[in-house]
Amino acid sequence: MRENKSKRKAGNEDRYKGKGTRICRNCGTARGLIRKYGLNICRRCFREIGESLGFRKYGG
Ligand SMILES: [Zn+2]
Repeated sequence: MRENKSKRKAGNEDRYKGKGTRICRNCGTARGLIRKYGLNICRRCFREIGESLGFRKYGG
């Protein structure tokens, strides 16, 4: 059996742009968001930005 896990996103990015909705301030995604320390960035960007902010990488 072949499963299709990927859901299609049809231009729904504009939906979560507004007050009250927290998105990554770097790339704009709402997935894997890190609000800790008021970063408001996704964990993906956290790896890049977090470093420059003084945070160390997890698990090397
Ligand atoms: Zn991001």
